[in-house]
Amino acid sequence: MFKRNFTNMTLIKSISGIRGTIGGNQSENLTPIDIVKFTTAYSRLIKDKNPGKRITVVVGRDARISGSMVDSLVEGTLLGCGVDVINVGLCTTPGTEMAVITHKADGGIIITASHNPRQWNALKLLNECGEFLDDAEGKQVLAMADELDYIYPNIDNIGKVILREDFNAKHIAQVLALPLVDAEAIRKRKFKVVVDAVNSVGGIVIPALLRELGCEVVELNTEPTGEFAHNPEPLPENLSEISEVIRKEGADLGIVVDPDVDRLAFVMENGEMFVEEYTLVAVADYVLRHTKGNTVSNLSSSRALSDITARYEGCSYSAAAVGEVNVVKKMKETNAVIGGEGNGGVIYPELHYGRDALVGVALFLTYFAGLNVTMSELRRSYPAYFASKNKIELTPEIDVDKILSEIKHRYSGERVNDIDGIKIDFEENWVHLRKSNTEPIIRIYTEAKSMAEADALAKRFISEIEQIYKA
Ligand code: MG
Repeated sequence: MFKRNFTNMTLIKSISGIRGTIGGNQSENLTPIDIVKFTTAYSRLIKDKNPGKRITVVVGRDARISGSMVDSLVEGTLLGCGVDVINVGLCTTPGTEMAVITHKADGGIIITASHNPRQWNALKLLNECGEFLDDAEGKQVLAMADELDYIYPNIDNIGKVILREDFNAKHIAQVLALPLVDAEAIRKRKFKVVVDAVNSVGGIVIPALLRELGCEVVELNTEPTGEFAHNPEPLPENLSEISEVIRKEGADLGIVVDPDVDRLAFVMENGEMFVEEYTLVAVADYVLRHTKGNTVSNLSSSRALSDITARYEGCSYSAAAVGEVNVVKKMKETNAVIGGEGNGGVIYPELHYGRDALVGVALFLTYFAGLNVTMSELRRSYPAYFASKNKIELTPEIDVDKILSEIKHRYSGERVNDIDGIKIDFEENWVHLRKSNTEPIIRIYTEAKSMAEADALAKRFISEIEQIYKA
């Protein structure tokens, strides 16, 4: 069951942008005032980085109901700050990122709350490479958003909209032009694919991409109305409809994306989940076959990627802290050829450093077209791991850092990684403990070779943590 407790707080300011619910009091929700403040702060950051230069920023949005309202505020504020705007309208997160790169803009703003429900929206802030702002820049924006003394440019220096044009077709063309995407091989297979795009921009781009690849497409929830047909997070409990349709239609596979199309999950021909952790695993398996190199995912992602990487000589796997910006940083450091996150986020640097479901679909289908197996046969060729995701709710006076350092101390004889919470890699399984920045909780992720074992490991750590703070 989907549940969020933000202890009376529905505006979350973080280095990757601001996210909140529409309506209500300012600075407690994502109100027009908050949108103007953050867009102003972002404009100042980009202008400070480029002294004396005329600035251009790309704006794109997913299909959520508040999108057009937020878009107007963001665009108007940018113009008022003296920034020129390229507005790509309804666009995916990866598409907006590619538009920044392609138009050689100085930054970008994506208006999307990703997998959050319909009442949410957010501003995701990009740099001139179409990548998320780093920690220092994010902090600067947060600090400047609270300053009220900014002097806006006068009438001769306001910005203008220099282009109002859709970018989705260009993004699809860029994906199809990748050397490892073999559109001809996919077309020959005439795959039948069911798509669930939860009535957001995925409903525009994914069927269009699949038709370019000669697939017969069965569409579910592909009207970009923003009325999400189910909880938009691509998890098994939200995806019963597509499972039924795949079986009824005798489709080869199903494709599910989140509202801004940076997460990708596959459903097998038998209606069961391929499991989103395995999206990156399968795509990496294909990429490594053709391009020897390193891989990266975050600490909470499946060990299966590390296992698959080890199958290829000279290739090695590295783990990054959770968060796309951290994964990208580690990918650059290790010169990775493929990486991403276990939540269905595929990052293929050959195109750009951002999670991109379109790239994931095109690379995966090229791979699948060459295999002559069913989805479930392919899935069985990968190591089977099961993840259990739990949390402990604590009271605010409990010192979470102290608990984590005690755990680290107790397990110092094991392989421990402390770059982001505490991850302990045991021989047969692992546990990752992280504190939340917004709530007094510890998240406990475990992975093992059976669900029972993953649950038991989580239970063991939950009681160990309880024992520590009650002591
Ligand atoms: Mg997303």
